[in-house]
Amino acid sequence: MIPSEADIKRERDAARVLRKSPWWKAKTHAAPQCYYCKAPLTPEEVTMDHILPLAQGGKSTKGNVVISCKPCNTKKGAASNIETILAHPDFLPPA
Ligand SMILES: [Zn+2]
Repeated sequence: MIPSEADIKRERDAARVLRKSPWWKAKTHAAPQCYYCKAPLTPEEVTMDHILPLAQGGKSTKGNVVISCKPCNTKKGAASNIETILAHPDFLPPA
């Protein structure tokens, strides 16, 4: 499904709210680790990554956002979603 501009904007706003939530703060302050390369990160290095990108219909929900380091987040941005899922078979997109 291809989301509309309005859908993406709504999810970006939701991501901003999620980033300020106690849930995300607790996650990023308790020995955070990159979801992809498992590198230990400092809270300052943490970025929020959408496993299923917003541009591909992903949502800003707790089940779809993970801690990522900057290099992985950038690298993943260039890869297609199917490559990401193949690289992480433990991840199943929310139904
Ligand atoms: Zn990483």
